[in-house]
Amino acid sequence: MSDLLKSLNAEQHRAVTLPDESALILAGAGSGKTRVLTTRIAWLIQTGRVRPSEILAVTFTNKAAQEMVARLGVLIPTIDTRRLWMGTFHGLCNRMLRIHAPEAGLPASFQILDSNDQLSTIKRLLKETNTDTESYPAKTLQTFINESKEAGLRANAIQPANAIDQKCAELYAVYETHCQRTGVVDFAELLLRCYELLGNDDLRHHYQTRFKHVLVDEFQDTNPLQYAWLKRLACRDPQGRGNPASSASTAVFAVGDDDQSIYAFRGAKVDHMLHFSEEFQPSHLIKLEQNYRSGSFILDAANQLIANNAERLGKNLRTDAGTGDLIYIYPAATDLYEANWVVEGIRTKLKAGCPANEIAVLYRSNAQSRVLEHALFQAGITYRVYGGLRFFERQEVKHALAYLRLIDNPNDDTAWMRVVNFPTRGIGQRTLEQLAHTASEYACSLCAAVSFMETGAALPKLKTFARLMDEIRQTIDQSGYTLPETVDYVLKASGLLAHYEAEREGRDRVENLQELVNAANAFVTGMGYAADAPAHTVAPAKNMAVTLEAEDALLPETPMSPLSHFLSHAALEAGDYQARSGQAAVQLMTVHASKGLEFAAVWITGLEEGLFPHENSLYHPKSLQEERRLMYVAITRAKQSLSLSFANSRMLHGQTRYHPHSRFLDELPDTGLEWLAPKRGFTEEYFDGMENLVAKEDSDMCEEKEESARPAYGRHYRSAPSRTNGEAVNQNGLTYKRRDAQQAAQAQRERDAGFALKQRVFHLKFGEGKVINMEGQGPGARVQVQFAHSGTKWLALDKAKLEKIN
Ligand code: ATP
Ligand code: MG
Repeated sequence: MSDLLKSLNAEQHRAVTLPDESALILAGAGSGKTRVLTTRIAWLIQTGRVRPSEILAVTFTNKAAQEMVARLGVLIPTIDTRRLWMGTFHGLCNRMLRIHAPEAGLPASFQILDSNDQLSTIKRLLKETNTDTESYPAKTLQTFINESKEAGLRANAIQPANAIDQKCAELYAVYETHCQRTGVVDFAELLLRCYELLGNDDLRHHYQTRFKHVLVDEFQDTNPLQYAWLKRLACRDPQGRGNPASSASTAVFAVGDDDQSIYAFRGAKVDHMLHFSEEFQPSHLIKLEQNYRSGSFILDAANQLIANNAERLGKNLRTDAGTGDLIYIYPAATDLYEANWVVEGIRTKLKAGCPANEIAVLYRSNAQSRVLEHALFQAGITYRVYGGLRFFERQEVKHALAYLRLIDNPNDDTAWMRVVNFPTRGIGQRTLEQLAHTASEYACSLCAAVSFMETGAALPKLKTFARLMDEIRQTIDQSGYTLPETVDYVLKASGLLAHYEAEREGRDRVENLQELVNAANAFVTGMGYAADAPAHTVAPAKNMAVTLEAEDALLPETPMSPLSHFLSHAALEAGDYQARSGQAAVQLMTVHASKGLEFAAVWITGLEEGLFPHENSLYHPKSLQEERRLMYVAITRAKQSLSLSFANSRMLHGQTRYHPHSRFLDELPDTGLEWLAPKRGFTEEYFDGMENLVAKEDSDMCEEKEESARPAYGRHYRSAPSRTNGEAVNQNGLTYKRRDAQQAAQAQRERDAGFALKQRVFHLKFGEGKVINMEGQGPGARVQVQFAHSGTKWLALDKAKLEKIN
């Protein structure tokens, strides 16, 4: 036991060993919140205060949940972490709904719609109801539905303020009916349905008695529905009041940092930290102020940045870890140069022995990852992207999953629509519209509607498809195929594999499909199913009256067949399966996804106004504060080294953007910071690869692009160590204010190119324009020109024959 507690400081020790009462732990980044929470769970179990099944612990991202489970596994190696109710809100709600599907009014094999599936379902319903999609775009309706659910509102409970809301509420009702009929739930529904389930007195009582301790990490990001769900779990009073401080109540251990609240756009409210004090009356409030993660340069940067925010609960972070490395800021000419700089830095780190998993590249928007990925790929560095296009979201994998979903639930219309004519079976749009019409006439699913259809040229083909699905289902059930065997069989029997094998460019897709069989294999082993467990056999639903001991003896997921379980996992943890796993990889992710994680070396890229802070937040003080908190999260991920960068021009969403550097850079302290000067050139191979990438992204680029300059590889220099008065000295001995570094670099570029920014120019083919960017020198110099009538082009100066106009 002493081993468990010995590495804690006094405040952490106190937090871990609190009596069985509610507590709020308010602490800054890297102060050991997650460590305290995990150690408390271990301590509660090891001291015999509770059984593992009497603890519920929740956090926000799958990665954070995995991390928590892994840390606990280290603290108590003998524990079977699968028995713990530990996970994300969505994961835990899914589990509860599976156990109590009948009470929740759901079929045992209900399927989960991810956001894309939800959107396509809404689009289909809008079409079926002949709704004007100009006035009611599917995306708007999707937001309306999700926000209503997150506010705990069913369609019939909405009180419309105007005709538009009225119409949206009606469409929401249509959507609700449809989901119910086809046995599917979206992400928001998982939470709302589970919250409603706990409205059942017996059930609520069962769980309130069962869970003696509820522990919540990242509490600052709970949204109102999650908060209400927690209250139902923890408070004796169904209204959520009650006196949680009384000994009869569940002890809630909430851990959070108001400075890291980054989900206000999804309804999270920092106020919950304040409400918690009033409503749960925690017996203990503990602040942790010692940071164990970062050196003082990094910590000071984070502290000074966040001091620009108002409305903070106020904390002071200190560290004993020394200064750590200097923080570097790199002003890149373009996003390509930025990516190359990042890759060079990563290479150096790897050479110095830093493990790849300890290196992270963070960005504000997913769209930024492509250029970074390309540069890493070119450099032969293994990387892994969280978010973006995830394994389970790839087209071919989603098709295979759709077939598997139809095995599990034939009424899943979204899955049906996805594969009814894939591979092609000659079933056209008109037939499907007819089928949808029949389905709404008979208030049934598309699959069931086939037997009601009487006419239609493609009816026999529809029937053949329905029969094929029946046959596949029967074969799987009768042969007792395991999950990997089922996946393998479905790939073949559906024709999917053959389809992609016949495609000219289908090799990657075939590999991904085969990887799905591996994923199924890994899942079965990881979840502790018997190797020969039939994929499609549902264990009898667990009876609420079953004793806790009996529940302990069972795997928590027993109400799900391995197939249902695998499908839930694919929907909920889309990003977390690492294909061909095992290799250490550099981690790429958005700042949002990095919450709670830490890395030895961190790059934060794209620090430009309009990107980070995001353009939607620039004129809204509250949103700007949230962006600043996001930057605070990003900075505090770094343990030893932190590097920041921005690009003068960036290709994003098919457009070249020019933005000044982020205001956040100006909010950092001078000490410990070093601005680098941009590098001048790249290797031939680098440009070759980048050109292909750019050409793909920017079809607007002119042919001169192909002949663009390829300057010789330039040595990059950096300014001398900073002086505390905010000045730096460059190699030529020129002293300038650190923030003038960019202007100095720009002036140098202008001298090299022989053109100034904003210079008006004339080109024989493209007409008049003005110079907006430049790079390279001598015969390699290029300028970017915004033409009045021909868009924006990069031109090689020695070829383009540009004339200056005064
Ligand atoms: P975040 O706000 O980013 O979620 P956190 O407050 O949850 O951070 P942890 O992730 O728990 O912080 O801890 C940060 C790092 O400090 C981890 O590497 C952890 O192991 C280490 N750490 C925490 N407490 C101690 C301690 N008492 N002694 C040594 N290392 C510690
Ligand atoms: Mg944490």
